[in-house]
Amino acid sequence: MPEIEEEERGTTHEPVLAGYQGQPGSFGARAAARCGRPVAFPTFERMLRALLAGEIACAVLPAVNRVEGPILESLDALARSLAQPESRVTVGAEIEVPVRLVLAAPPGLALEDVREVHSQAAALRQCRDLLARLDAIPIETHDTAYAAFRVKEAGGARAAVCSEEAALEAGLLILEEDVSDVRPNATRFWRLDRAAEPESLAPRVVFYAGVRASSALAEAEAELLSLPGTPAEPVRGFAVVPEKSVARAAAGTARLAAGERVRWLGPAPEFVRPPRMKEIPKVTEVREPSVVAVGPFVVGGGRRAVIAGPCAVESPEQILRLARAVARAGATALRGGVFKPRTSPYSFQGHGLDALGWLKEAGDAVGLPIVTEVMAPAQVGPVGARADVLQIGARNCQNYDLLKEAGASGRPVFLKRGFGTTVEEWLSSAEYLLDAGCKNVILCERGIRTFEKATRGTLDLGGLLVARSLTHLPLFADPSHAAGRRDLVPGLARAAWGAGVDGLMIEVHDAPESALSDGPQALLPEDLEELLDEFGILPGASGSVERIRRAIDGVDSDIARLAARRLDLARLVGAVKKSSGRPIRDEAREASVRARFAEALGEDSLGATRLADALIDLALDAERRGDPPTD
Ligand code: PEP
Ligand code: MN
Repeated sequence: MPEIEEEERGTTHEPVLAGYQGQPGSFGARAAARCGRPVAFPTFERMLRALLAGEIACAVLPAVNRVEGPILESLDALARSLAQPESRVTVGAEIEVPVRLVLAAPPGLALEDVREVHSQAAALRQCRDLLARLDAIPIETHDTAYAAFRVKEAGGARAAVCSEEAALEAGLLILEEDVSDVRPNATRFWRLDRAAEPESLAPRVVFYAGVRASSALAEAEAELLSLPGTPAEPVRGFAVVPEKSVARAAAGTARLAAGERVRWLGPAPEFVRPPRMKEIPKVTEVREPSVVAVGPFVVGGGRRAVIAGPCAVESPEQILRLARAVARAGATALRGGVFKPRTSPYSFQGHGLDALGWLKEAGDAVGLPIVTEVMAPAQVGPVGARADVLQIGARNCQNYDLLKEAGASGRPVFLKRGFGTTVEEWLSSAEYLLDAGCKNVILCERGIRTFEKATRGTLDLGGLLVARSLTHLPLFADPSHAAGRRDLVPGLARAAWGAGVDGLMIEVHDAPESALSDGPQALLPEDLEELLDEFGILPGASGSVERIRRAIDGVDSDIARLAARRLDLARLVGAVKKSSGRPIRDEAREASVRARFAEALGEDSLGATRLADALIDLALDAERRGDPPTD
């Protein structure tokens, strides 16, 4: 892959120097380390001058923080540098750095005795609650890490707000952790380059001055980072324009009043983002994840689902029984082969279009869309007339006539990876589908052929992850055909689920011994239920009380296990607090635990408060008991 070659070339080059404002141990240093070798500067102005002079290849600038919003000092320095005629700075990337600020002081100073809190202005603004609670005086320094050193040197009733790393480096003790008003806190840094070629993922950043410019950008749903005005430009700031409204932003800012201006610092509006692979432009287009939705079956962009059913549709009764079983388990699409690609011409070849009718009736009976394989272009018409999703099997992954026909059918297509196709070839096959007009394509890894004979195929999780990095299309794994053996299916399914697939295709049979194809790899319906419960997939509404209770039992076991772990951690933190002289109770911490539950369960949910309170009570008991867990 080209990325790997680039990486190898990169190691032989001189290190790229990346400037930041502050000193080692600061969040800026962390952001710079992600761009090259960090070089510290005392001020943003000095850093920007060094960038323009070519002394450093790039520089990182804190732009927006989750708590305080736009970071005015740094953005203002950038705005002023842009006013110079020779300034050709561009924003080449955005880097988000998690910000965990701690309050730290030299040994011997207790929390209630802190009178001064030293830190960088922006960091101080991010922990106003703490400052109010301590009733301490905020003292500005140019950098968080520097604040830690100052406080250590000066002693007295002084504490610093800085990273944990900087506190430890300076020899301070942590009085309170994670003191930001909003948690988790993070800062988005911009990587500034000297007028480089736009990168495919660079943010579209615009500097604007003028009321009209600002309202046109706001209308285009840009994120506005406004700056205090100057006499010449009373309304000004930066805007980050979402990809989908670049054209609108460009049109809206094309005609401005006198004295107004906009300047694109990220890629210009006419820049079209190149696909990740230029030979496979539609499949590797840089865009938000595609979502495929067919009735209750919705996958992609964070939605995950399972397609289940027998390898082959054997009889109307068989498919109806299995349709009910997979719907009860929580699958949202029903599979079943009616045309079967078999290695031997003497094996069962499928019941053809009759079976398609049985499959359709079974799907309708349980309210699930049906997925079935087409093996020849001539089958696309008749099968597409009734099937909700057309499957193209591994053996036909590179049957280009079939891909063109299926792609033009108007139906979603589920494309298996061939057992001898590379990731690139597989994506190229999907390109045929998109090029033929197909709007809904799902890709499925089903095991490739390797030297290993112990399994039917080798489920290529690495290949799936490579595909994830290249395409916006939903990605599935089929652990059944990869394993070839029932006992391996749950493990492979978990591995693929853990790797982040959008869904799984799983073969199921209730009489696998007498199945007409692939019996040895079929899960029993009850195995499927257990597996889908484990993945947190909701059972179908057709399930009995007993079925749903089994799912609840699984959740209860998880909660009990997690509660035990939480109490172990509480005992551990209790012991650490005792040994460092910190009080057991911490109201700010308790509030943040409650907030976490409220966020997950709904802000006004009484349940969230009751649950959090119960856990906090139990944890306090455990902390007071305080012996660390022994096992
Ligand atoms: C199937 O899904 O039944 C099938 C034949 O799969 P594959 O094409 O992956 O072998
Ligand atoms: Mn099969």
